[in-house]
Amino acid sequence: MQRPYKNICPRCGKERIVVRVWVEKSENSTIENTETACPDKKCQEASERDISKQRNKRLQMEKRKRDSIRNRGSHVHKSISLVK
Ligand SMILES: [Zn+2]
Repeated sequence: MQRPYKNICPRCGKERIVVRVWVEKSENSTIENTETACPDKKCQEASERDISKQRNKRLQMEKRKRDSIRNRGSHVHKSISLVK
């Protein structure tokens, strides 16, 4: 499979450079990972900040989801005991 690997920085539109390529092997597949960075150091630092911000947001969302599932679970439990 051929893939034209061009990664454009969403922030400044420059072509991102490949920093690191590594291969992860699992039982029956190999995954190639590529880490890219913006050639603009300031831009790269800013996007790294964004990434960690997004990660925090996702973690918070996952936590909220877990909490709401837990709440729903107790709710279901309550209605079952009402039926009895
Ligand atoms: Zn950039």
